[in-house]
Amino acid sequence: MTVSGEAAWIDVSVTVRHGMPHWPDNPPIVMQRSMDIGRGHECNLSHLAMGVHSGTHIDGPLHFIHQAAGVDEMPLAATMGAARVIEITHPRQVTADELAGHSLRAGERVLFRTSNSTRCWQTDTFVEDFVYISEQAADYLAETRVRTVGIDYLSVGGYHADGAKIHRTLLEAGIWIIEGLDLSAVGAGRYDMICLPVKLHGSDGAPARAVLRPIT
Ligand SMILES: [Zn+2]
Repeated sequence: MTVSGEAAWIDVSVTVRHGMPHWPDNPPIVMQRSMDIGRGHECNLSHLAMGVHSGTHIDGPLHFIHQAAGVDEMPLAATMGAARVIEITHPRQVTADELAGHSLRAGERVLFRTSNSTRCWQTDTFVEDFVYISEQAADYLAETRVRTVGIDYLSVGGYHADGAKIHRTLLEAGIWIIEGLDLSAVGAGRYDMICLPVKLHGSDGAPARAVLRPIT
């Protein structure tokens, strides 16, 4: 608790850094000083190059649907407001069976805290066997019409499984997707969420900062 009695905000974003792990066929993350006080320049000024699906980021409908909305058209309410962190115990997938026990409602923002949070961000290499959303669970989320889905590694779909199908099912249902969260510092429960993508024109994705505050 802070002095005011409000719970503190908890950062659930990963830090963007040079050489960080990324989806194998996506561009590398390059962050370098173009100007450097240590090299005699007047200031420090960095150059950043990366795919828009790096680190913590938002997927817009345009990612898998031709001519659909980009992240700059995202309603702010998609990623700001009450959110529920759901602890996933299954070691490989977010399953429909496990979700069925959580009474999801239309319009909810749900974030899945899987073993990814404590396992996948600790290494500099891309983790292929991360926990992802199963086809049946994606169908269930689409039917339930949740507003937003968050996952704690780089894709809602699997690396070896059909990731495109999972993305399409969610995006075609109008669900906004947050990927690349690090939920290791939070437990299951209800939170206020602020998560906003950088306003990139007509972009299929955009890096975002995500923070949660427990609702007391
Ligand atoms: Zn993405």
